[in-house]
Amino acid sequence: MNDASDIRHPTSGSLNIGIAGAGLLGRLLAWKLLQQGHHVSLFDRGSREGELSAARVAASMLAPYSEVASAERQVFDWGLMALRWWPEQIALLEQQTGQTIHYGMAGSVVLAHDLDKSSLRHFEQQLQAKVPDHLDGVERIDRERLRSLEPELADRYSSGLFLADEGYLDNWALLLALEIAISKLGGKWYEHREVVSVAPKRIVLSDETLAFDWVVDSRGLGAKAQLPGLRGVRGEVLWVHAPEVNLQRPVRLMHPRYKLYISPRPGNRYVIGATEIESESMQPVTVRSTLELMSALYSVHSGFAEASLLHAFAHCRPAMPDNLPVLNGEVGLLTVNGLYRHGYLLSPQLVEQALAMLAEQTADSVAV
Ligand SMILES: Cc1cc2nc3c(=O)[nH]c(=O)nc-3n(C[C@H](O)[C@H](O)[C@H](O)COP(=O)(O)OP(=O)(O)OC[C@H]3O[C@@H](n4cnc5c(N)ncnc54)[C@H](O)[C@@H]3O)c2cc1C
Repeated sequence: MNDASDIRHPTSGSLNIGIAGAGLLGRLLAWKLLQQGHHVSLFDRGSREGELSAARVAASMLAPYSEVASAERQVFDWGLMALRWWPEQIALLEQQTGQTIHYGMAGSVVLAHDLDKSSLRHFEQQLQAKVPDHLDGVERIDRERLRSLEPELADRYSSGLFLADEGYLDNWALLLALEIAISKLGGKWYEHREVVSVAPKRIVLSDETLAFDWVVDSRGLGAKAQLPGLRGVRGEVLWVHAPEVNLQRPVRLMHPRYKLYISPRPGNRYVIGATEIESESMQPVTVRSTLELMSALYSVHSGFAEASLLHAFAHCRPAMPDNLPVLNGEVGLLTVNGLYRHGYLLSPQLVEQALAMLAEQTADSVAV
């Protein structure tokens, strides 16, 4: 067994921390821990581009209102914190790296075709029941109000909802900026390294076992063998380039069968999502899902007819049985997982809690 001191020599007060999985949680924790002066080594089965992570496939909407309709209240409360956290952290990341990370916090629009108005009503009722204390963030809109928000949609829809506090961010730019910041702060990347298992203070690779002061297991669905109850929930997204479509904010279409969202990216590109299938299949996007997403998309805005299909991605959201995140700490090992369809929404709270837990347990072990 190699000692992590082969990799780094800790200075007083700083720890050698090994992170298994460099997706969303792994990167955020690495970045924060490096800023606190710790030494961090990141291991991932993919490259530092994150092409094997759910984080890269995600639409990365920050949608606490939309999500709480079919989730626990905790998702909403943690999500509100994320709406404040991301702009501050993005500003810091941009300053550290010189990268631009596009994001929008100008709300989202929820629409339904006239025949599906009952779906929209049901959604509004769910919000009234789940967040009765935050209904000032839910505005019923008519055609004229919609015209002021999203002029290109006003001829098709006579009413909808405006969720003024919701947002989205450009996840590819974020993952890249985190990679650069981690490297600049001295974090070490171990790409294409499969972590076979983790244990307190140990990361086991196929050919060696490495020792650390602390290990973080943030392998997402890759931690399934070590995290009872963890399952994958398949999701598919399409990326399109639509020069004729100019949306300012995420748009959701309520539909009895084909729920759809459109998350903007710079340069008239849009992420279209997402299917939700109880399956751990990682097979490429199916024809059926493509047809469903595309026809729902075309019904939102005819300008999508001339769009080019840039990418079609499928991945699995890591989820626990209650679809809520899990944060377990024992001395030498921190497990963070189960972000399900809320990675960008819940990771700010989870990361802050993980850092606090690590600081507390480190202080306890020093005291002992
Ligand atoms: C289609 C889709 C749409 C989504 N849309 C949104 C959205 O709009 N808003 C939102 O908030 N969330 C969204 N999510 C959810 C979000 O992407 C996830 O919750 C989040 O990425 C989970 O982060 P993570 O770090 O736990 O896992 P991941 O991001 O998957 O990272 C895990 C990393 O661990 C690595 N790894 C796994 N096993 C091993 C191993 N054995 N050895 C070494 N490395 C390993 C992987 O390569 C990967 O890089 C979406 C997800 C999907 C699939």
